[in-house]
Amino acid sequence: MERVVVVGAGLAGLRTVVGLREQGYAGELTLVGAESRGPYDRPPLSKAILSGKSDDSALPFDPDELRVDFRPGVRATRLRGDVVETAGPGEVSGPDLDFDGLVLATGAEPVVLPGEGARYLRTHDDAHALRAALRPGAAVVIVGAGWIGAEVATVARTVGCRVTVVEQAPTPVAHALPPQVGRHLAPWYAEAGADLLLDHRVAAVGPNTVDFADGTTLRADVVIVGVGVRPATGWLADSGLELDRGVVVGADLAAGRRGVYAVGDVAARWSPRYGARVRGEHWDDALRAPAVAVANLLGGAQTYDPVPYVWSEQFGRMVQYAGLPAAGLPASTPAAGPPGAEPDVPGTQLVWRGDPAADDRWSVFWLDQDARVAAVLAVDQPRDFVAGRRIAESGAAVDPALLADPAVSVKSS
Ligand code: FAD
Repeated sequence: MERVVVVGAGLAGLRTVVGLREQGYAGELTLVGAESRGPYDRPPLSKAILSGKSDDSALPFDPDELRVDFRPGVRATRLRGDVVETAGPGEVSGPDLDFDGLVLATGAEPVVLPGEGARYLRTHDDAHALRAALRPGAAVVIVGAGWIGAEVATVARTVGCRVTVVEQAPTPVAHALPPQVGRHLAPWYAEAGADLLLDHRVAAVGPNTVDFADGTTLRADVVIVGVGVRPATGWLADSGLELDRGVVVGADLAAGRRGVYAVGDVAARWSPRYGARVRGEHWDDALRAPAVAVANLLGGAQTYDPVPYVWSEQFGRMVQYAGLPAAGLPASTPAAGPPGAEPDVPGTQLVWRGDPAADDRWSVFWLDQDARVAAVLAVDQPRDFVAGRRIAESGAAVDPALLADPAVSVKSS
């Protein structure tokens, strides 16, 4: 292998070029990044940068040391055979880059709602623009009570904005958490002084308006939308690669064409663990997948199949979530332990440690029909989380009765 091109200079792209050199690749290496800056971390955008605790989240990156031809401000526009077509700043046509190895790391872009002028939070520049707009007393409407919406609401309230969060689902974080769990996150909004409007479907957004499907309108000084992301695959439309909510890759992260791999938010990988296709969307994936893609690009035969992991810092709490409760599980079994007496995701049993209605710190485990940990959510319970994630990774079973006892540490049976 002599010429490797990496498209996308986020965390996954950076980890790919680092991994290539670490794993002994000595040939030509080109890193193409649509943004004008070097690789940076995105989680701080909605936390330290938005709150003003930090101005920058640049990741350590020395192109000379890595012997990488880094091309900031250059966008890949098309993949044609073994050539990546590019455009420079101002969409001026750039050079064609031919390769014998290609790693796609173009990440994801915010889902955009109908209407012009609302804000989105994905880039360094977005974060700084939003920070400037979050002035004390400003009326802020956040569309979406997911991970990002909650983090933005947290900072906006800390700054002293008047905050309303609108969400079409009946509970927060509904894309990831079933209502029986998600409903316990709802009171955090009111405690922080933010209004939470659930079951409110938004039809359109503007710079100062949110139009609901029922014909009513909410006015605000700042409107921010955080309703999810979609993988940045537009430029690959006629590439011949299989695209299905991401670049479809196997557990080896190969994209079905010799020498082509995808990592991070843009990848939709096959998970043997879950018997399902799993999308990135989380920092941990962008960090860890590239080493496996690189090993395979260089002739290895590794599998990438971790338990997905995400964390979120919201309303003074550390929320950690790992697993995939719904994947590949058969019919419903009864739930156990306080206070989750209701059935949850079909085929899983919910086990609670602590009572979310009464305790500040709690965790909940989804067990499959063999009492293995399918997922764990922990609120300010890092020990429960670390142990639960490890057990989920191992596939070991737990004793539900012992697990439900907060006085007993989390362990496999
Ligand atoms: P990205 O970071 O999106 O990087 C992709 C890069 O590719 C971008 O710079 C993009 O401009 C570039 N690109 C796109 N198309 C092209 C093209 N055609 N040509 C060239 N370049 C291109 N995850 C967590 O687990 N916990 C958190 O707390 C958390 N907080 C977050 C907060 C915010 C505000 C955001 C936006 C994300 C957060 N995430 C969090 C998600 C996490 O940051 C992402 O999963 C991670 O950044 C994915 O990395 P990536 O390299 O795959 O993609």
